[in-house]
Amino acid sequence: MTNVHRRDLLTWPILGPFLKWRHARTAMQAPLLLIAGLMIFDGLVGPRLAPKNLATVGVWLHYRGLVVLALLVAGNLFCMACPFMLPRQVGRWLRERLFGGGRNVPAALRNKWLAAGLVLVFFFSYEVFSLWSSPWLTAWIAVGYFLVAFLVDTVFRGATFCKYVCPLGQFNFFGSLISPLEIKVKEQTVCAACRTKDCIRGSSSNVRGCELWLFQERKAGNMDCTFCLDCVHACPCANVGLITRTPTAELWTDPFRSGIGRFSQRLDLAALVVIFVFGSFINAFAMIRPVYGLRENLARWLGTTSPVPGLALIFVIGLVVLPIVLVSGAAWLGRAPFVFRRSSFLPPLRQITARYIYALVPLGFGMWLAHYSFHFLTGALTVVPVAQSFLADVGLYRGAVQWGMGPVVPTDWLFPIEAVFMYAGATGSLIGAFQIARNQVESAPLPPNSGGNSLPPRLGGRGAVLAAAAPWMILTLLLLAFGLWVLVQPMEMRGTFMYSLPGG
Ligand code: SF4
Ligand code: SF4
Repeated sequence: MTNVHRRDLLTWPILGPFLKWRHARTAMQAPLLLIAGLMIFDGLVGPRLAPKNLATVGVWLHYRGLVVLALLVAGNLFCMACPFMLPRQVGRWLRERLFGGGRNVPAALRNKWLAAGLVLVFFFSYEVFSLWSSPWLTAWIAVGYFLVAFLVDTVFRGATFCKYVCPLGQFNFFGSLISPLEIKVKEQTVCAACRTKDCIRGSSSNVRGCELWLFQERKAGNMDCTFCLDCVHACPCANVGLITRTPTAELWTDPFRSGIGRFSQRLDLAALVVIFVFGSFINAFAMIRPVYGLRENLARWLGTTSPVPGLALIFVIGLVVLPIVLVSGAAWLGRAPFVFRRSSFLPPLRQITARYIYALVPLGFGMWLAHYSFHFLTGALTVVPVAQSFLADVGLYRGAVQWGMGPVVPTDWLFPIEAVFMYAGATGSLIGAFQIARNQVESAPLPPNSGGNSLPPRLGGRGAVLAAAAPWMILTLLLLAFGLWVLVQPMEMRGTFMYSLPGG
């Protein structure tokens, strides 16, 4: 018990009392709402050039870079301080007073398919409309985001927008699977004796329970958790903490998770993971110089002058065809140990896919980290001249605008930093594949005539585990090689004044 408490960040001085303060979240959201408002304003009426505009620099350089770094070192901090929650609160207030409490989201939509589709649409639109280069479009996306969050939560109960719609939230849920912190109970015995279950029901003092239907007593891991801390405030026994854990370890096992079920039975969640893993490679691949030649060749081959059909083909191959071929191939090969063991249980391909796909999460996250940190490290200081220029435009700054500012590390540090993220991600994936296989193979029923005795070493034990994990390990190494190749290509320096850098 003491050990667990020592690792609860809510017991730390300053940080703990702040996070346990009921208005901590609003105090974090308010400044972000102000920044979002300034970005929208500058995006709509400010400079048209992306590297000079607060909207494009703020969203495509800083927001994305800081989100992945926060997920790496802590957890889902962006959802914790999410400014889109504030219009949602207005929607909730209207819903409860004007619409009789609102409606439950239809059963057909209680899954991640809609969110997965929106993520795909976003990835494609980002390239087709060059969103990073348009302050105006970036500002309208932010306005649209606020409006949709408000409308969805005005009509539907709970945190429907966060759980089933928000593409940014889904990315944060995906990334937080590898994070070192988790909101969880400190003592299961305290929950067992608890009669009120306020963490899910809400307390009588008008503190709401978990809107994402994650019941602390049976919650496992970070999927769907917005780090909103409502459960922390609601629990009358102070039994919920912000606890440290082994990063990526939640991917290794497949317990029943409150509000989610088992990973291996959720094809929609597996599809979302596939999109984020393969999307990390396609997103970076689409900005390297060789792809511009490829897009021109595809346009010629398709008999069109528009680059859109060629880009669509790259996305269909990279995000649909290749993932289906590679992932089902790995799942098919991964059944070998069950066949060799003559196990009475041969897991269906879809179940193996939905289980082992989580082994690729660390590598996928490593690729996002490498890519976004590249942009962040080459353009982080751009915020200084852009803010100076913005303040000059509104009459609050009269000094010289220092447009020369941008990178925070020397150029030749970039590839080594990216490579470290990639190798760390690949290591996490190799360990993840092994641990998932160990968990699955060792729990598989033995052949009926084995009498429960251990199997011959050739077919059982560590050999069987390695055989089950091998296809996913090979897939990890193939993706790692592809990712490193992408990162050594000249990459477009979106959002900065530089055009491209080798080793990007
Ligand atoms: S977390 Fe708190 S409110 Fe929830 S079951 Fe445990 S003790 Fe009860
Ligand atoms: S209330 Fe739910 S979403 Fe919020 S921190 Fe607790 S478990 Fe996570």
